[in-house]
Amino acid sequence: MGLFGSGVEIKTPEQIAVMREAGLVVGRTLEVLRYAATAGVTTGELDTLAHDTIREQGATSNFLGYGAQDPSGAGAFPGVICTSVNDEVVHGIPGRRTLSDGDIVSIDCGAIVDGWHGDAAITVPVGSVSDEVTELLRITEEAMWRGIAAASIDGRVADISNAVETYVRSQGDGAHQWGIVEGFTGHGIGSAMHQPPDVPNVVGRTRGPRLVRGLALAVEPMVTLGSPETRVLADGWTAVTTDGSWSAHFEHTFAITEAGIWVLTALDGGEAALAALQ
Ligand code: MG
Ligand code: MG
Repeated sequence: MGLFGSGVEIKTPEQIAVMREAGLVVGRTLEVLRYAATAGVTTGELDTLAHDTIREQGATSNFLGYGAQDPSGAGAFPGVICTSVNDEVVHGIPGRRTLSDGDIVSIDCGAIVDGWHGDAAITVPVGSVSDEVTELLRITEEAMWRGIAAASIDGRVADISNAVETYVRSQGDGAHQWGIVEGFTGHGIGSAMHQPPDVPNVVGRTRGPRLVRGLALAVEPMVTLGSPETRVLADGWTAVTTDGSWSAHFEHTFAITEAGIWVLTALDGGEAALAALQ
């Protein structure tokens, strides 16, 4: 492992292979949770299921206890997943809330294998949701894939941001624009869950660090039906939209390798979705 530029961690092929193991744990756990997220289930029950599923695969959680050392923070995160329902954007704490038909829930999950991290999220419709909400989920997931597909050796982080932003804006029209949350970003990942560089979902003032072999990033667009502005609830964690509009969130961890883009948290390595964008 080496450091490159502004503290960006460069992984060896062997280290990326271990990150793939962590990514598969996350990917398999999210598939279990996708089918468990039905009306009548509590977010706390999903958390228990995630805890057992991560442990059965010989991995540990990077979410549980996160933030314990942060003196300005809300204290240790108490779950192994974040469950963010409807107008909750990210970092929802699993607990007694019962999912109802028509809800959407973002399930964000991470795992560690031999010190190497994986991080991914899906947003799941509970029962039947409106056409507009179905479209919100489709656009958010598609934006994530377009961002990943835009990453190439010797490109820049802003190529990813540009692909995410351009796609989401292209899906709006004069009557309605989708909100792209700017207050939270994707990130570098490797021997820690959150590393430099940030991976914003909109283009900023700089092009960001260069994309090189051995870099691993988590891309995670958050898109809303209304305002992109968020605030954090009194629990110190849960971020909600200020206007109460619903929000979707998808995330994958990927690495840039000799062979190209390898989506470490996708069960097929990202092959199908990336081929569809060629
Ligand atoms: Mg995540
Ligand atoms: Mg993340």
